[in-house]
Amino acid sequence: MTKDVRVRFAPSPTGPLHIGGVRTALFNYLFAKKHNGTFILRIEDTDQNRYVEGAEKYIIDALNWCGIPFDEGVDKNEKFGPYRQSERKHLYKQYAEELIAKGKAYYAFDTAEALDAHRKDHEEKGKTFIYNWHNRLKLSNSLSLNAEEVKAKLDAGEDYVIRFKSPQDETLHLKDIIRGDIKIDTNILDDKVLFKSDGMPTYHLANIVDDHLMEISHVIRGEEWLPSLALHYQLYEAFGWEAPEFAHLPLILKPTGKGKLSKRDGDKLGFPVFPLKWTDPKTNEVSRGYKEDGYFAESVVNFLAFLGWNPGTEQEIFSLDALIEAFDLERVNKAGARFDPDKIKWFNHHYMQEQFNEDLAEAFKAQRWELADIDVNYIAMVIDLVKERATFVSDFWDLSHYFFTAPTEYDAKASKKAFKDGTKDILTQVASIIEANEDFTAEALQNEIKGWITSNEIGFGQVMMPLRLALVGALQGPDVFDIIYMIGKEETIKRIQNVIATL
Ligand code: GLU
Repeated sequence: MTKDVRVRFAPSPTGPLHIGGVRTALFNYLFAKKHNGTFILRIEDTDQNRYVEGAEKYIIDALNWCGIPFDEGVDKNEKFGPYRQSERKHLYKQYAEELIAKGKAYYAFDTAEALDAHRKDHEEKGKTFIYNWHNRLKLSNSLSLNAEEVKAKLDAGEDYVIRFKSPQDETLHLKDIIRGDIKIDTNILDDKVLFKSDGMPTYHLANIVDDHLMEISHVIRGEEWLPSLALHYQLYEAFGWEAPEFAHLPLILKPTGKGKLSKRDGDKLGFPVFPLKWTDPKTNEVSRGYKEDGYFAESVVNFLAFLGWNPGTEQEIFSLDALIEAFDLERVNKAGARFDPDKIKWFNHHYMQEQFNEDLAEAFKAQRWELADIDVNYIAMVIDLVKERATFVSDFWDLSHYFFTAPTEYDAKASKKAFKDGTKDILTQVASIIEANEDFTAEALQNEIKGWITSNEIGFGQVMMPLRLALVGALQGPDVFDIIYMIGKEETIKRIQNVIATL
């Protein structure tokens, strides 16, 4: 890469950041890090009507939680700041006027009512109203009116917008790193509004001006912005600026593979579509987040990386560093990426195994009042024995409650299988062996009890099944001798006596 890589994530703070937005941020981050570049956060808040309180903080918290913080942006390394477009308001008008002076844009005075009437009229005839070369001279603008009329309107303070003058009969050659070359006939394009009557730029103008001023080298964003690419190309050309390179990421599809993933799909099928929990400031409606649902940031990142990208090998487990190493925009697909909520669980199970037991123990303890007085080191040892079966911290209690509290009932089906005529005697003898054991380790106990079983020619299951039931209440859990070692001699004997009493 010859020029410095500078990429930006440019969300609008209109609500919580959707998981697809996190994917866009991640791909920008990976690309920046791969090329020793800079990852920038710019807040595109020119649409004041859609501004939502708390959304900007949410975006920043989400990036930080995922471990993909921005290098430069709002309130951080403000080299090209400010980074909130609302704070750059004063900047944009001169650029819109520059385009007018160059004959690339024009004032348009059409009222909302007049435009609506045109739209309706077209609809009735089964057509779509497009404001462009074919009708602009019949509409109210600085191309159709004479200079005096225009001046009079401007002097009178009439509302106007500034529109881009999209050329007629040209073919645009656009380039996209993921999609290759795209040809567009300019005749189908409309004269997009660049500057609004409220004194604010539209997304298109602010976005291009800022990308230019912030020296963005690559624009990596979602496919929904592909239709804007033709205009953006033309704006760079109109200003005489060098355009950045573009990469439009594929859509994220519903689990069925049909249609774009929406919040409703998550609600319906029971999975979050947001990284963090979000409480709507107006309605107080709560949307669940991956973090609060018990997912590790590593799982979310690894999962999102595969939504539209693959390394070209069978390898699926990638740490963030490994992703930076392997990532390549050329390996991003054009086709939509199916969102599979089971796959992220699979990643979570994997990353569960890589967590420190002590951290998991703290998280587990915070979830269960039953653990309030239990030493975290003990909890950590229990977790080490059961985490192989866990996907979430919230799975731990079902997998391990018997390490903390004695069973109060015994699984009926298992009892029928395990408790036979001689069981009482067997358990009594096992209890006395355990009682007498001096060197209380899982290994020593195992040797002793297995030795006793063999020398007395008792069936293995006849001993181990009722013993497990006594300790656990069901035929589940890790090695019986590990359980005995963990809960201790006294508790073990108590539990064996409890079960004997019920036989
Ligand atoms: N503000 C746009 C958004 O909300 C940014 C699109 C772009 O990256 O150009 O996604």
